[in-house]
Amino acid sequence: MKLLLHACCGPCSLEPSRVLRAAGHELTLLYANSNIAPADEYVRRLATLREWAADEGISVMEGAYEPEAWEACAGRVGLAADDPERRRARCRACYRSRLEETAQRAAEAGFDGIGTTLSVSPYQYTDVIREEVERAAAAAGVRAVFEDFRPFYDEATRRSRELGMYRQNYCGCRFSDAEAAAERAERKAARAAAREAERAAHADELAAADAERAARRAEHQAYADKQAKKRAVLKALREQGKREERK
Ligand code: SF4
Repeated sequence: MKLLLHACCGPCSLEPSRVLRAAGHELTLLYANSNIAPADEYVRRLATLREWAADEGISVMEGAYEPEAWEACAGRVGLAADDPERRRARCRACYRSRLEETAQRAAEAGFDGIGTTLSVSPYQYTDVIREEVERAAAAAGVRAVFEDFRPFYDEATRRSRELGMYRQNYCGCRFSDAEAAAERAERKAARAAAREAERAAHADELAAADAERAARRAEHQAYADKQAKKRAVLKALREQGKREERK
């Protein structure tokens, strides 16, 4: 099938592209990601995708970068760090905007169907992605090729590291950037608290070990002092002997 594959970034495109090509699909990638902020991050991800795709001989089309339009739909939901339902709604609107664009471009350019690389990520809502791919494809009169690529996520991570690809640490929108930073800070604080609790739990043990080390040091010092004293007495006796010999 002549397939227009929505690509969210380079690392996420590796395995879905390999699997779909192996299944016989003729692929073109569409980078349609108005969700990505800031603009230089959008450019960096696109450059990473293009560089890899050129090596693979896969064409890349670029969608319209319209962050204001994205803000007016998905962005209206806003931050959703502690509200899974809100976040799911924001991500659904985000998938919808990107997949509708993909389906429209596919229909205009004579592709048979559409797919997306989004479903390789275990951090996305796979069921929602499926619904939105099928919805967008049906509305545009093209076929939906959905696959749950999550089993290939580890391999995608390994390969992207091996290729030295740029790997972002947040999904794409400014909210996900803030949410990911907050999650990292939370994990860091939790790790520090766990280390502190462990230190406190071992405090007695550490104090006993310190006391034992100090006692051993004192014992060694006493022994060294005693030996020094002994050497001094022997030396004095030797010198006294020599003096008596000279008389
Ligand atoms: S977290 Fe990702 S999928 Fe969800 S709205 Fe932001 S960019 Fe879109």
